[in-house]
Amino acid sequence: MRPPMDLRIGDVVILRKPHPCGGTTWRIERVGADIGAVCLTCQRYVLVPRSHFEIRIKQFLERGPVTEP
Ligand SMILES: [Zn+2]
Repeated sequence: MRPPMDLRIGDVVILRKPHPCGGTTWRIERVGADIGAVCLTCQRYVLVPRSHFEIRIKQFLERGPVTEP
């Protein structure tokens, strides 16, 4: 199995598939088995399974601070 990607609260990422609003930039608000992210175009919050989210990441724009587990 692939190790989980280093995702941090505060990360700003570009996803491959645009949101229905047309936005592709998201800020991560919650990390765990599910990833919570806010679309920076329409401010909507979504919760998606981590594996689902990881494969959609195209690029990191900003990295959040490293937090101890
Ligand atoms: Zn949106």
